Amino acid sequence: MRRRIVAGNWKMNKTPSEARELIETLKPLVGDEKDVDVVFCPPFVDIALAVELVKGTNIKIGAQNMYYEEKGAYTGEVAPEMLKDAGCEYVILGHSERRGYFGETNEQVNKKVLKAIEHGLKPIICVGEKLEQREQGITEDLVRMQVKIAMKDVKKEDAVNCVIAYEPIWAIGTGRTATNEQAEEVCGAIRKVLAEIFDQETADQIRVQYGGSVNAKNAADLFAMPDIDGGLVGGASLKADFADIVKA
Ligand code: PEP
Repeated sequence: MRRRIVAGNWKMNKTPSEARELIETLKPLVGDEKDVDVVFCPPFVDIALAVELVKGTNIKIGAQNMYYEEKGAYTGEVAPEMLKDAGCEYVILGHSERRGYFGETNEQVNKKVLKAIEHGLKPIICVGEKLEQREQGITEDLVRMQVKIAMKDVKKEDAVNCVIAYEPIWAIGTGRTATNEQAEEVCGAIRKVLAEIFDQETADQIRVQYGGSVNAKNAADLFAMPDIDGGLVGGASLKADFADIVKA
């Protein structure tokens, strides 16, 4: 049985003082959660504070990105060891906003995945199609390719600590959610490609999330689908509603 995971991607929201307020609101609501992994992914500048504030609870902290080099002359980048040392357990990689606005490629995502694993960080690897790609009927081909490249050279024993987040780009921040069936179809295809890359036993242990306008109303039905093991949540992770999503 795969353990459910609900992660909040705060994106470029919340100053440290606002982060404190949000965490203090959510902590009593989700801090004792035993059946689901609850992860907050705040901006880099909030991470140290977030780690401090969730001490003694079951909430984990993740970053929203990292670079794939160890250290050095990479102005503006953050290294995996910095995240690990700061207390992060997870790191979101290959989010469609990183791919779209910052030109991140599948190959770079793969380098980041390998580096994250090397440093004991659990990658949440985002994949998903644009609306025109869905309309062209190439969603599965595209997502299979994204997963295959992201997981290149990942060992079976490390793959089980990776999380794949299926996030159709047309559903992110738009209020337009994939239907339960659409989300399940692609999450099932992701598990199938994971079984091809590794084996069925490994694929059955890897958690696959859905992301894209998940909210307190639609979460329970999405998470009830057999291949959906939780969600990556953007907008709704910035309010107390996030607790309802975790309960779902
Ligand atoms: C996201 O950015 O990962 C996301 C799923 O955003 P939203 O929930 O706002 O659609």
